[in-house]
Amino acid sequence: MEDYQLLIDLHKRAKRQGPGGDAETSQAIDLARLDPSTPLKIADIGCGTGSSALLLARVLNAQITAVDFLPDFIEVLKANAEREGLTRKIDPLVCSMDDLQFDSDEYDVIWSEGAIYNMGFENGINDWKRYLKPGGLLVVSEITWTTNDRPIEIQRYWEAEYPEIATASSKISILESSGYSPIAHFVLPEHCWIDNYYRPLQNSFAEFLARNANNENAQAIVEAEKKEIALYEKFKKHYGYAVYIARKPG
Ligand code: SAH
Repeated sequence: MEDYQLLIDLHKRAKRQGPGGDAETSQAIDLARLDPSTPLKIADIGCGTGSSALLLARVLNAQITAVDFLPDFIEVLKANAEREGLTRKIDPLVCSMDDLQFDSDEYDVIWSEGAIYNMGFENGINDWKRYLKPGGLLVVSEITWTTNDRPIEIQRYWEAEYPEIATASSKISILESSGYSPIAHFVLPEHCWIDNYYRPLQNSFAEFLARNANNENAQAIVEAEKKEIALYEKFKKHYGYAVYIARKPG
């Protein structure tokens, strides 16, 4: 199996593919003041197996386009939507986030949890802006430094993984210079990483290795995940995911 197929095999069984939580998705809905009775058109970009898309569909009067470039994740999302009786509210779409063919001004809300880094925060918010109606809302989570100074070990690791990692004030400044009006931001609490993401992942390593005959590539993937988890445990006071909420001016 190719590495990316192994990564799919590891992650598709999990409820979420990055740090987050239902309570925090709900908190973002509240901060964005999304009204449950108003009909809304929402795009959830990089939706994975659908933890946020399903919650948005449950609590809002929304039609949600749930986009991911991995068909395997979209298949799991479809099965979840069927199980919950939410298929009418969710339109699954296999598409790359940098090649969306939406209409201009099509969406009331663009939602994206733990995914925009794949095209870069600044590039993504600029590219997606045209799909938002004037007055529409962007809700996006992004890895963020939570201190101004940090040990060189973690600085080097994240700068190699994702050079755009920055403090919240820098991210908010980028939102402003990209023509958005920032409304709120908050940092995801630790349990969003540990309880909701890393622990379920750790618990799946043994079965993942067994499914893949303990091969070298599978082992390398587990080792890389373990390294990321160990670094989080050691340096978690210096970084986290922050959720940014901003409006496209009306
Ligand atoms: N929002 C989900 C998944 C986050 S993981 C959650 O919070 O659980 C990041 C997701 O982005 C993965 O599902 C991955 O398949 C998707 N992704 C990565 N690159 C992408 C691209 N170019 N276009 C669309 N989706 C992409």
